[in-house]
Amino acid sequence: MRSETIEHLWQLKEAILSAVEKLTDGNRNLASKFDDTQSYLKILESDSQQLGDELARVHLLSMTDELTNLPNRRAFMRRLEDEIGRVQRYGYSLTLALIDLDNFKAINDSYGHAGGDEVLRVFCQKVLAAFRHHDMVARYGGEEFAVILPNTDHEGAIHALMKVKHAAAETVIKFNGYEFPLTTFSAGVTMYRPGETPSSLIERADTALYRAKGRGRNRIE
Ligand code: GH3
Ligand code: MG
Ligand code: MG
Repeated sequence: MRSETIEHLWQLKEAILSAVEKLTDGNRNLASKFDDTQSYLKILESDSQQLGDELARVHLLSMTDELTNLPNRRAFMRRLEDEIGRVQRYGYSLTLALIDLDNFKAINDSYGHAGGDEVLRVFCQKVLAAFRHHDMVARYGGEEFAVILPNTDHEGAIHALMKVKHAAAETVIKFNGYEFPLTTFSAGVTMYRPGETPSSLIERADTALYRAKGRGRNRIE
């Protein structure tokens, strides 16, 4: 072979080798960038998972009463609207009970606010727990509780409330070296009437509760 041809072939080989090297470098670069992207995506994924968890936690907090761990009034209103929707679709019965501890102010006066708080906690954990698990018990306000009883008529609700009343009567509060019986409660019970709004149902239960207070407390109206 002519020496120029050999020279030419060498140059060609060098050029090919250098091109292959460049390609390999490029490839390595790409692979490392790809790795970076992968780990970045993983970080994003875990961030968004954490964000989702945090959001769920905040949502739960916004629906929960801190002292008693019961659903709060906001959660109660949501559930009541849902239940009323179901009643309107399927037509089963629905009862609402409002429960208010009697003379609760006297507990605070005798044992302090912390004593009152303890009474509220025990009342929720030991007494209101007597409701069935598909009933929804919520803290409606200070010492007032709302119970949604789906698929329950008037009689069923009174029966449930009597069970709760007996549980209350058997409960003794131990606080700061004191022992005292749990205070009684009054309740207003009412059944949902087709077509009415949640607030009119609540208003009727509230009127019944008010009547129970007026008629001497420790009673269900
Ligand atoms: P009634 O039988 O008419 O219901 O009388 P009551 O004393 O229970 O009702 P009143 O509305 O006069 O007083 C309620 C008291 O409940 C006043 C308020 O300071 C107290 N209270 C409300 N929320 C809490 C709470 O979270 N903890 C404590 N310790 N007390 C509370
Ligand atoms: Mg009260
Ligand atoms: Mg009250």
